[in-house]
Amino acid sequence: MKNHPKGLFILFFTEMWERFSYYGLRAILVLFLVSKTKGGYGWTEAEALSLLGLFTGMVYIMSIPGGIISDRWLGPKRSVMLGGLLLCIGHFLMAVPNQTLFYAALCIIVAGIGMLKPNISTMVGELYTEQKKRDAGFIIFYMGINLGSFLATLSIGFVAETYGWHYGFSLAGFGMLLGQIVFVWGQRYLQEVGNQLKTRKSGPKEKLKLSPTDLRRIMVLGILFFVIFVFWMSFEQASGLMNLYAKKYTNRVVFGWNVPASMFQSFNAGFILIFGGVVAAFWAARKTSAISKMAIGTILVGIGFLFMVGASMERASVGQSAIYWLVLAYWLHTLGELCISPVALSYISKIAPKALVSSMMGAYFAATGFANMAAAEVGKLAGKLGELSIFAGLVIISVVTGTILLLFARKLTKITREDEIEEMPSKTTESASVA
Ligand code: GLN
Repeated sequence: MKNHPKGLFILFFTEMWERFSYYGLRAILVLFLVSKTKGGYGWTEAEALSLLGLFTGMVYIMSIPGGIISDRWLGPKRSVMLGGLLLCIGHFLMAVPNQTLFYAALCIIVAGIGMLKPNISTMVGELYTEQKKRDAGFIIFYMGINLGSFLATLSIGFVAETYGWHYGFSLAGFGMLLGQIVFVWGQRYLQEVGNQLKTRKSGPKEKLKLSPTDLRRIMVLGILFFVIFVFWMSFEQASGLMNLYAKKYTNRVVFGWNVPASMFQSFNAGFILIFGGVVAAFWAARKTSAISKMAIGTILVGIGFLFMVGASMERASVGQSAIYWLVLAYWLHTLGELCISPVALSYISKIAPKALVSSMMGAYFAATGFANMAAAEVGKLAGKLGELSIFAGLVIISVVTGTILLLFARKLTKITREDEIEEMPSKTTESASVA
């Protein structure tokens, strides 16, 4: 943690609380919609899942306008500020038991995350000039994301199911309010980052100039976004198909206690908190390119599904499968996520053309948004084809995609000429270092 700018910890806590509110809401949304008690809407499962897919897809897809608005007009800092404000309003509106306000709140939250998520990531990238430090910074930031998610999945569900849905929604709102307070208070540590680019300020009609190298870098990012789509489409089975698999077909009894299926949702965040540092140290000792790491992440998510294939085969022969299959699958998925997700954030902030960093971040999150939507469709196919075929299909798709990327990693890295990007220790970073 030493030698990281103080600004990182402001962004860490802001994003931690933002993710707390998002994952808390996500954890109870479907349960609330299908519930017939405590003010739930009593929808069918299919209706609830459709809204969940639309919502979780849109929050990330909205990162495209969020990124463009930041690059063209507001700059990342003001965009995060606005996004945080919208999120506070949205989450507190969710706490009011009124259906019209409920829809309005979801829309406001979608807009808020679109403004905040890509731009806060851009700000983290701006804190660093050295790529190795930036990578490490993003790993720490990613731990903040998952700390928020871990706390939310353990607390908000409990509060909502015990005391009432709207108490759960309010708790999410208080989390976001804390995030916004941290961000406003921490402005003193963020003076050098997240400001609107001066080059774009001088003339609103000024044309964006991109060099051939910029265009090649954008092309490579486009290829990576496709791979990232495949990764998240596989990974996001966690809240859908794997969740249902845990509930229906897994023997969840541990020391006489039947572990609730929803608790499996905290495995991912828990594993990130445990293994984030290990994976960071593993890569820090090597000279592996970012593209190769992303390829390896995609292969790992595929290998993770091999355990789900094992689970399905065991279930076919004895009617149920053991708990360790799911745990191992989640573990490999998490290792894969650590190779791809913080690495991608860091890589985009390094190679995207300066005037387009937030837009590229937005495009990245949008790819994950479309992947969320596709994941729901793939999960639904299990009804027709059976879980085994879906899990086996995901092994093939992910391993093949990752392997192809790995084969071309060197070539793609060369095309981006990333070694030409200057890396000099910046004054800001040094002077703001945590002692
Ligand atoms: N868990 C990450 C987060 O919440 C992943 C987001 C994504 O890229 N879809 O930030």
